[in-house]
Amino acid sequence: MKRYTKKEIEKCIQDIENPLTSILSSVDLLINKITNISQEEEEEVLTLVREEAKRVLAILENLKNHDGDIHLKNSDIIDLLDEPMYNPFAHGRAKILIIDDDGSIRRLLKMDLEKLGYEVYTAYSGKEGFEFIKEIDPDLIISDITIPEMNGIELYKKLITENIIIPFIFITTDGSIQQKIDSLRLGVDGYLTKPFSKEELIALMESLLVKAKRISQNIFIDALTKVYNRKFIEEKLSIKIEKAIELSKSFSLAMCDIDYFKKINDTYGHGAGDKVLTFLGHFFRSHLRDNDIVSRYGGEEFLIFLDGVGGDKAYTIMNRLKEQLSKEEINIGEGKKIRITISVGISSFPGKYHSFKEMVKAADDALYKAKTTGRNKVIIIQNLEKEDING
Ligand code: GH3
Ligand code: MG
Ligand code: MG
Repeated sequence: MKRYTKKEIEKCIQDIENPLTSILSSVDLLINKITNISQEEEEEVLTLVREEAKRVLAILENLKNHDGDIHLKNSDIIDLLDEPMYNPFAHGRAKILIIDDDGSIRRLLKMDLEKLGYEVYTAYSGKEGFEFIKEIDPDLIISDITIPEMNGIELYKKLITENIIIPFIFITTDGSIQQKIDSLRLGVDGYLTKPFSKEELIALMESLLVKAKRISQNIFIDALTKVYNRKFIEEKLSIKIEKAIELSKSFSLAMCDIDYFKKINDTYGHGAGDKVLTFLGHFFRSHLRDNDIVSRYGGEEFLIFLDGVGGDKAYTIMNRLKEQLSKEEINIGEGKKIRITISVGISSFPGKYHSFKEMVKAADDALYKAKTTGRNKVIIIQNLEKEDING
C-alpha cells in the first residue's frame, strides 16, 4: 500500500491543478473563439496545451513510480535533517560527485545536473575523488574508469573496504561486456558506455537516490512497531528538542509504558506480546496528529513528542488516548482478544527543564510516579513537583 503525507498530497494536487487549469482555459479560448486569434496565436495556444498536458503526465508517472513509505512522515525528516529530502516530485539538492579526467565531460555533466537542481562537485583523478568523498560525503558518485592515480575500479574497491557505501555509477568508453559484468559483480549500481543518453543517466541516478533515501530512513524505524526507534530518538529527536528549546517553542514529551506487560508475555506467550506492541505503535500513530512523533524508547515503552503543546493540553490529549486505549480489544491470535492499560509521564516545555536529557528524565520520573501510585494514569511532572517527587 502506498500512502503519502498531507504535505506531499497538497503539493501534488497543486502541481496537477496548475497545468490543468491552464489547459482548460486554453481549450475554452479555442472552442469559444471569444477573441479573434490569429493562426499563429492558435498554434501557440495548442503548443502550450501540449506542454502542460505533458507536465501532468510526468507528474502522474512520478506518482506511479514513487514508493511511498507507509510509516515515515517526510515532514518530520525534512524538519529534522534541516535540508530538503530527495523528493521524487521535485529535484532535491542531492550532492553528486563526478570523477573524470576529461574536462569537457566534467563541465557538461556538471552544467546539466546543476540545471536539474543537484549540487555538483567534480574531480579529475581517483585520488582527488576519494579525498572529495571524505570531505563532502556525496549522495551519488559518477565515475569514469580510466582515470589517473587510482582508476575507477580501484576507487570503488577502496570505498568498499572502508565501508563507505554510496550509489556508484561508472561511465566509460570501454564498452566491453566483460568489463560491465565484472563491474556489476563488484556491486557497482550502474554502468553506462560513452556516449550515453543523458536521460538514461538521470533516470538511473533518480532511482538510486530514491532507494538510498528509503534505506537511510528505514534505519530510524523500529521493525516490530513501525514507529521511530531509539536511534532516531538519540540522533534526530534529541536535536529537534534542543532546537525547540533554543527557539522557545512549546512542546511536551509523554513517556508511556504498558501496565503489567510481563504478565501478557507469561500468560499468552511472547508472540502475543509482540502483537500488543505492534497494535500500540499503530494505535498511537493513528490517534495523534501528523506533527506529533511516536517512537519506541525501549521494550514496552513509547516516547511521544507532542508538537506545540503545553502541559495542560498534553495531559488532556494523553488522558483521552489512555481512556480510548483501555476500551480497545486487541487481537492476539487464535481468536483471543485482550485489553491493556498504560501509565504515562509527561514533561513540558517551557518549564523547569532545559535540555533533551532533562526532559526525558522528567517524563520518566512522572511515569515512575504513575506506576507507583496505581498505574493506568497520566501524571505531569510540573504537578508532581508541587508534591514530593520521590514520595
Ligand atoms: P509495569 O506495570 O510495572 O510496567 O510492569 P511490566 O510487567 O509491564 O514491566 P516489566 O518491566 O516488569 O516487564 C516488561 C516486559 O516487557 C519484560 C520483557 O520481557 C517485555 N518485553 C520487552 N520487549 C519486548 C518485545 O519486544 N516483545 C515482547 N513480547 N515482550 C517484550
Ligand atoms: Mg510495563
Ligand atoms: Mg517498562
